[in-house]
Amino acid sequence: MKIIISSHGGFCYGVRRAYDMVKDVLGKGNKNIYIIGELIHNSFVVKELEELGIIRINEINEIKDNDSTLIIRSHGMPFELVKQAASRGIDIVDTTCPFVKKAQAYAKKLIDEGFFLIIIGDQGHEEVEGIHSASGYKGIILNKDLDFDFSELKKHKKVGLVFQTTQNIKDIAGIVPEILNNFDFEELRVYNTICDTTSNRQADAKTIALQADVMLVVGGKNSANTRRLFDICKAEGVKSYHIQSADDIHKDMFSGVETVGISAGASTPDIIVKAIVKKIKQF
Ligand code: SF4
Repeated sequence: MKIIISSHGGFCYGVRRAYDMVKDVLGKGNKNIYIIGELIHNSFVVKELEELGIIRINEINEIKDNDSTLIIRSHGMPFELVKQAASRGIDIVDTTCPFVKKAQAYAKKLIDEGFFLIIIGDQGHEEVEGIHSASGYKGIILNKDLDFDFSELKKHKKVGLVFQTTQNIKDIAGIVPEILNNFDFEELRVYNTICDTTSNRQADAKTIALQADVMLVVGGKNSANTRRLFDICKAEGVKSYHIQSADDIHKDMFSGVETVGISAGASTPDIIVKAIVKKIKQF
């Protein structure tokens, strides 16, 4: 059986950076270190960090000791929460990915320059909430499935777009023509804030899916970028499985299969992919 592994799989630049920054903080001082939610959407990494002493909380009010450290995740966090923590004297370690920061900065710039802001992304996702907060919660969040009366845009003279970094350009391509069909404004400004890592990873997954009999897409079930990779592979008509670790594969999945393709989400450590390859080879 041939195994093709995506060269664009595993930890991306932003996740690697966040992981290393957290490991660095863990090695210094003896303050309590808190994080709201998961550093990255991978249960193995989350468990490892918790075992090393990171305390996971749901909201800032759970931090009782001001002489402590709060980690901002690679997805970013709503600005007002960061300010709230900083005003209490809590140390902030900001691991927000520079690509996410760019999307936040463009959202703010569009609002500052009087544009009606459209953030294209998944409503409720932490990254999108962070971008929205950077704009002072002005403008709207749109995803490909959301109903929106585009004729509303006619009320605005200037319309600006930013994207959640992990959006699949193909999925959202329909939104721009909708906007243009209702073009009655002076200026449309589009900032491409989709990160290269994501588009390269998605393109590579698609190329491999075209050659494989079975695709394994590895990553957390709550990882948006992994779910998108899975959808891309499935759309190519290849039998695809979204798995989290080697425990999720079994021999029957490979019966009659000559070529297995493997792609992994941005928060999947290499060690998990290696364990999967090892298990497939045993079959
Ligand atoms: S996928 Fe891109 S934007 Fe997201 S953390 Fe990785 S490098 Fe940053």
